[in-house]
Amino acid sequence: MKNKVKIFCPGTIANISCGFDVLGVALDSVGDEMVITKTAEKGIRITKIEGQQLPLETSKNVAGVAGLALLEASDYEGGFEIEIYKNIKPGSGIGSSAASSTGAVWAMNHLLDNPFSTTELVKFAMEGERLASGVAHADNVAPALFGGFTLVRSYEPLDIIDIPVPNELFATVIHPQIEIKTSESRKILKTNISLETGIKQWGNVGGLIAGLFKSDYDLIGRSLVDHIVEPIRSILIPSFDDIKKESLAAGALGCGISGSGPSIFTFSKGLDTANKVGDAMRRVYEKVGVDFDIHVSKINSQGIKIV
Ligand code: ADP
Repeated sequence: MKNKVKIFCPGTIANISCGFDVLGVALDSVGDEMVITKTAEKGIRITKIEGQQLPLETSKNVAGVAGLALLEASDYEGGFEIEIYKNIKPGSGIGSSAASSTGAVWAMNHLLDNPFSTTELVKFAMEGERLASGVAHADNVAPALFGGFTLVRSYEPLDIIDIPVPNELFATVIHPQIEIKTSESRKILKTNISLETGIKQWGNVGGLIAGLFKSDYDLIGRSLVDHIVEPIRSILIPSFDDIKKESLAAGALGCGISGSGPSIFTFSKGLDTANKVGDAMRRVYEKVGVDFDIHVSKINSQGIKIV
């Protein structure tokens, strides 16, 4: 019987351009690690967090809250201990909280011999997201658990569609070291759109999904357009327009805001182009003097993995 597992929990990009609140994707070389151990003692204890200052208290850490949601639904009599090794900075827009919520429930399900489906794990992990942002959204936790691209088609009932990943697709993500509160970046959004804008947006969502299914990189690029959120939110992100212009000039298929920012993502065909795009993005921030982290990553089609 396995009692302990060490896992990689991927960073994720949510709000992929036209797919605001519905489309997300998992990254392969950006993520946290966690060690989860079964214990005879009931409940969940977070015994160690390295890399970031985050609460050890079960009810204040998304890993604890998501884990408790799973325990409540399970007939398992014991408990778990959790260690978190954080690489993804909270508030970066690349799913720091989702990595912990999903890692906890995935590992617990694994150690209990998988009584729950992946969609049920998404529901438990969403409770962690509720703690982090006040809203139980699924657009980061779904790709972390399913891997690849996911579409949250509906919440009631929860319906998550797993979308195939073209082989040569890479992401480049730049994280300017500034803070944008998710609540602030939500507040500035309009609550209505015109029919004309809606038509353009759903044309692109359909195009993006079709492009991913067909591995049609040009179609993916043409469809990575957001007429609704990006024009408003991008004003909160330093040099967004220049980063976008330079990354497209360097060969990126498309560029947009990762999650609710401040990270900016691009997709490219092939690692070489993804690296060149990274250099172009880096030059923009070096010129204006903004500190940043940059990540180049293959798309992760597996999601959470045992390491
Ligand atoms: P991200 O979009 O990168 O997940 P959020 O701002 O949505 O960032 O979530 C981070 C919030 O969740 C912070 O307030 C942080 O203190 C809280 N939090 C609680 N537990 C964790 C955890 N295990 N990992 C990351 N953030 C956590």
